[in-house]
Amino acid sequence: MASKHKAAAPAPSLEWMKLTAAEVQAEAAADALVIVPVASMEQHGPHLATGVDTVLGGTVALETARRMVEAGHRVIVTPVCWAGLAEHHMAFGGTVTLDQATFQAVLRGVVGSASRHGFRRVFLMNGHGGNSEAIGTAATDLAVEFGIRVGGATYWHMVPEVIAPLLERQQTLMHACEAETSMMMHLAPASVRPELLSKAHGPTSSRVPGQPPGLLMRRSFREITKSGVVGDARVASAEKGARLLDAITTKCAELLANPELWKTR
Ligand SMILES: [Zn+2]
Repeated sequence: MASKHKAAAPAPSLEWMKLTAAEVQAEAAADALVIVPVASMEQHGPHLATGVDTVLGGTVALETARRMVEAGHRVIVTPVCWAGLAEHHMAFGGTVTLDQATFQAVLRGVVGSASRHGFRRVFLMNGHGGNSEAIGTAATDLAVEFGIRVGGATYWHMVPEVIAPLLERQQTLMHACEAETSMMMHLAPASVRPELLSKAHGPTSSRVPGQPPGLLMRRSFREITKSGVVGDARVASAEKGARLLDAITTKCAELLANPELWKTR
């Protein structure tokens, strides 16, 4: 039997900021999932604008939500939290970073507000590698503090199996790389400088040789990559970007729709 929530009329927009306060409250009453895209503004090599993570993180969140709503779920998406943890990119310029305490405080304010309005399920959808660990910390702490379900993940970590087969020179999404550049060519071509693509390549990992998979140790990208790129954007294309976005958001929507994730006792 369909739940009473699914019977209510869907909101006129997926985007929190395009709904009236009453419309947002109706989504809370319908037990909608709130997706909070979390990004960063930082250098993305010689060929991409600094806003890549906001464009990609925001679009992946919205497209995921759109697919979930089409499948009958209630979801709304907040605007992107555009500033994140990017200390390791500061040496290149063009970068904004928060400190850890401020980053956690921003997420606490956003999730706490949603909770006070009656939302009981929040997903922090991260689009920036430097935020990965902090997103997990936020989700864990905020779930306890507000007594609601809070999950968090970096989008490409959730769906590695759909990304790998679409790439030629990488196994996964890296930085200003084949994957990010392709999706930007598809979504925001004005933020790409094609004449600089030939310089847009770097090492195949941000980890040093011999660094075990579970060992966390961030270092300045200045030490790792001359171009600011990790991966190889020279084989990027808009067509590949469209396929990546489709595959990523289809799979994310499927995963986040799993009722087991959000079940409470
Ligand atoms: Zn980033």
